[in-house]
Amino acid sequence: MALIDLFTRRPAEPAVPEEDPVPGAWPEIGETWTPEGLPVAERYYNQAHAVVLVARTSQDPYGTAYYLVACLGCHFLSIRTKYHDLHIRYSLEKAAETANSHAGTCRALPRELPARPDEESARRLLHSWVLSTSRPRRDLHQYLDLDLSDFDSGRLELQRTNEWIQTELEALAIEQSDLLSARPDERTGTVRFRILPQPH
Ligand SMILES: [Zn+2]
Repeated sequence: MALIDLFTRRPAEPAVPEEDPVPGAWPEIGETWTPEGLPVAERYYNQAHAVVLVARTSQDPYGTAYYLVACLGCHFLSIRTKYHDLHIRYSLEKAAETANSHAGTCRALPRELPARPDEESARRLLHSWVLSTSRPRRDLHQYLDLDLSDFDSGRLELQRTNEWIQTELEALAIEQSDLLSARPDERTGTVRFRILPQPH
């Protein structure tokens, strides 16, 4: 869980949304997997012709897009990059660098693609992540802001859109109002989630 992200947020600046490269620009490598909720921006070949994906995880209200890097040979998955002493989400450029450098050294054969979980399993998965986020905080009488990007490391497994995640979290906030709260953020037009303080 990317608690570190809470400390690394910088003020967002308005930015022009990055255009995903057209599929035709990809190297012709046979692998055309397009996991739901993770628009694939770039693909690289590793040494054994497994694909290393660069996929978009989210776009903030100001238009800045963020990416992850995942190898479909070994289980390499990178959701944050080091920036001085901080770990920040990937820009397309940085993600491409990481993917390219991984592809240059990885020799793993293509593995089976992760299956898309059904609705019930996906929901259980998401709920378990919310619970595991709340657990370390049991002793603290504090709120914990929950950002959709806190789930980046599970996105390849979940294979759902940000809208789906948000809708599910809103439903969970109604079902388990002692665990999670949802409130609209007028400034950005988004919904903000908070893990509520849990009893000892
Ligand atoms: Zn690899």
